[in-house]
Amino acid sequence: MIITPEQYASLEKRIIAAVDASAQELIAISREIHAHPELMWKEHYAVKVLTQKLMTEGFEVEHQPGGLDTAFVARTHGMNVDGPTIGIIAEYDALPEIGHACGHNLIATSALGAGLALHRVMAELPGTVAVFGTPAEEGGGGKMVMRDAGVFAGVDAVMMTHMAMETVTKPIFLAVGGVEIVMHGKASHAAAAPEAGINALDAIIQTFNGINALRQHIRSDARIHGIITNGGAAANIVPELAVASFACRALDAAYARVLVQKLRAVAEGAALATGATLEFKHRGVIEHVQSNDVMARLYGERMKQFGIEPAIHQKDGPASTDMGPLSHNLPAIHPLVQIADLPTAWHTPAFRDAAFSDRGQRGMLVAAKAMALTTLDLLVKPGLLDSVKAEFAEYIGK
Ligand SMILES: [Zn+2]
Ligand SMILES: [Zn+2]
Repeated sequence: MIITPEQYASLEKRIIAAVDASAQELIAISREIHAHPELMWKEHYAVKVLTQKLMTEGFEVEHQPGGLDTAFVARTHGMNVDGPTIGIIAEYDALPEIGHACGHNLIATSALGAGLALHRVMAELPGTVAVFGTPAEEGGGGKMVMRDAGVFAGVDAVMMTHMAMETVTKPIFLAVGGVEIVMHGKASHAAAAPEAGINALDAIIQTFNGINALRQHIRSDARIHGIITNGGAAANIVPELAVASFACRALDAAYARVLVQKLRAVAEGAALATGATLEFKHRGVIEHVQSNDVMARLYGERMKQFGIEPAIHQKDGPASTDMGPLSHNLPAIHPLVQIADLPTAWHTPAFRDAAFSDRGQRGMLVAAKAMALTTLDLLVKPGLLDSVKAEFAEYIGK
């Protein structure tokens, strides 16, 4: 699309003004969602508030895409519908007991604010902007279910912003493989006839000991952590069943798979040593976030425009997210915007309070502007989306 510098400056100005004009409403919605924390797959209140606002403004809203009750897609079309589609991603699930301690209420309204601002100028832009409502980030992998159902088909690039302790354009999110280890033994009286029993709990404990011996010999980015979810029924019964749940994480999916295989070998050894029978349950590895460099730079430039100097990678420890797999299907960014200071951490009461605070709301509004302006650039700047796609194709090809 050919656009004059004057037209571009006008669009930029009006997008920023549109976010400012809707600021009070965005803040109110983010606080309502914060006050109604909903667990994964049950985010009905948040979805209702967000889709109602999008429908009122004239978005075309698709309910329950991929058969998911609490997912949605809201689209607004430009003058040339055949143009590219840029996706802006909302999350809105909360955590058990602690509520919105990951700040997904702010992720939701930053996406809403970006979508609404672009909608105001959409008649002058090519293509489509789609706001994706993605449920169950906290352990459910809603984005993967949506991806597998084809909900992201035809989308050229996606972005979202997570609130954090630093502003970062290309944060590290680890690949993760979940494993459940079930050991089957044989029950017996633990004092009267221990020789007749096979101790499934001992097999689990041997697995933990084996992993601890392994730690010295794995890469420093690797994380293997687990809990025992079933350790037997009573002290006087040799446990016939014991279960542990583990996560194996690393910078890339290939090494996370190596860790899963090492964990399997350790568990097999523990089963052999104790006479227990191993049941190894693993549903595959969730990839790390592959940040698109071209998009991350655009986003970073917008942060600078708003007086924020972003880092490239974060200082605090990395987590994992279902944006990882999606970033291996299409170009994506998952930047962070600071709303609290280290050593505050995600999933704590302090971060939950930050997600309600004025500072949190300011971060949410900056994120909305940065995403809307990054989308503007991708839609109107000649060749930009091509370079985004070329970078992605090169990464996937290797
Ligand atoms: Zn979280
Ligand atoms: Zn989160």
